[in-house]
Amino acid sequence: MAEKKDNKQPVQTQVPGKVISMDDYRCHAEGCKAKSTKAGFCEEHFAWFKAGLITKEGAKAQDFEKKFYQYQATHKKAA
Ligand SMILES: [Zn+2]
Repeated sequence: MAEKKDNKQPVQTQVPGKVISMDDYRCHAEGCKAKSTKAGFCEEHFAWFKAGLITKEGAKAQDFEKKFYQYQATHKKAA
């Protein structure tokens, strides 16, 4: 009998039988744990999204570094 090994879904379930939908209320940006306030992003990442730094899925834009540099220049804060 041939074994099928095409099930490559990562197992991350910590709580069996429970679907955690908290993600819907979190910022979509990578690594951000803040809760979303606008369009699925926190305040900061919503600004990033508006500036084109990240997609609506929270992935970085292709020229993220360049855009981020411009973004920082635009949003410079007096330290
Ligand atoms: Zn965020």
